[in-house]
Amino acid sequence: MSDTPDSAVQTVRGYIDQHRAAFLDDLVEWLRIPSVSAQPAHAPDVRRSAEWLTAKLRETGFPVAEVWETDGAPAVYAEWPSGDPDAPTVLVYGHHDVQPAAREDGWETDPFEPVVRGGRLYARGAADDKGQVFFHTLGVRAHLALTGRSAPAVNLKLLVEGEEESGSPHFRALVERHRDRLEADAVVVSDTGMWSETTPTVCTGLRGVADCEIELYGPDQDIHSGAFGGAVPNPATIAARLVAALHDENERVTIPGFYDGVEELTDSERALIAELPFDETSWLANASSYGTLGEAGYSTLERVWARPTAEVNGIGGGYQGPGGKTIVPASAQLKLSFRLVSGQDPYVIEAAVRDWVAARVPDGIRHKIAFGAPTRPCLTPLDHPALQAVVRSMSRAFDGAKIRFTREGGSGPAADLQDVLHAPVLFLGISVPSDGWHAPNEKVELDLLLKGVETAAHLWGDLAGALR
Ligand SMILES: [Zn+2]
Repeated sequence: MSDTPDSAVQTVRGYIDQHRAAFLDDLVEWLRIPSVSAQPAHAPDVRRSAEWLTAKLRETGFPVAEVWETDGAPAVYAEWPSGDPDAPTVLVYGHHDVQPAAREDGWETDPFEPVVRGGRLYARGAADDKGQVFFHTLGVRAHLALTGRSAPAVNLKLLVEGEEESGSPHFRALVERHRDRLEADAVVVSDTGMWSETTPTVCTGLRGVADCEIELYGPDQDIHSGAFGGAVPNPATIAARLVAALHDENERVTIPGFYDGVEELTDSERALIAELPFDETSWLANASSYGTLGEAGYSTLERVWARPTAEVNGIGGGYQGPGGKTIVPASAQLKLSFRLVSGQDPYVIEAAVRDWVAARVPDGIRHKIAFGAPTRPCLTPLDHPALQAVVRSMSRAFDGAKIRFTREGGSGPAADLQDVLHAPVLFLGISVPSDGWHAPNEKVELDLLLKGVETAAHLWGDLAGALR
């Protein structure tokens, strides 16, 4: 680039100003398609959304743009080779399906009839995730305008799935099937957000998750507590003992080996987290909870972002009806989930949980454990050159603001991309907590949406250097 940073910023902003109206018109058209993956009646709309995006990506300039079939809803894949044989490859991830939405849920206007009010675009999917996928279309055009290139500085690939809001049941298989075409040096996920309008941040990782259901069986049927109680093992008691034994007095998980390999926070990461303007009162209000409790020695944000946990999701067994029933119940059930952090392998955790349960179930109780498909954690180190490129590009878009770091306590399909493609995952999202993901009156701040465009415009040139 021969441009100085200032003129690069001006060039990009000039280009965006010229094209923002058409960009927003297109986004509005896409948001009108109710691509709700959870509702079978909308399956044709999810397909229409995939086809609409495919056509739009071709129009944007992607020489390859295809609908990819899965055993569920279709995804969209597009590819724009750089033409430079040394150029690294970047895969952008997002999704084109949306959460269900209906006027009567509390929407002020029709969720699928987008409206702009006070600099905000209201519609289901405005932030999660159509807006954040779509900023890449104008972003790559602005990148070409900035660099004078006819193709991006990186080999640019886009994978936009159609089932994220339904738990991405076919995503891993899709990625494995197309592993060769998806090959990338880095993945850019545009399906997260920033700390706030005034604190721009980059997310650096997601936790993983493993979950299981445990069935404990005692007598063949509920039996008389007077005739037999006190002389046979009670599965509900054993379930309660398992729950009680899961954490120690410091709220640390007691399962042997659970913390093995856990990537600890460095002092500088802890300092960066402590710098964020975190307000525990509003966080608690948001959690609808009345107090914090977690692993000793860690702050609330550290507990949620960077520490593994064990959670009891459900416990049941025995008589639950009105009045008393003096029995030793035949069975009891537990549902447990474990959030995992970088360095933990869900299958190692699964084995450790199985051993731990087996060692605690006495003779006379039979048990079964079933684990669901796990999601791995992902984390990109703060000093990774590609992450630094995201930070620089974002800082340019945000007028030189200091870009801070967050993580997400939740889990997502991004980890499958990291896992199958062996590429670091970067997050570029401009959504803010007030955008109302999955809630009525979802919106995106138009200023921030265009900051996303701007960041993408700077990113591909910067990443081309950082990943070489
Ligand atoms: Zn999303």
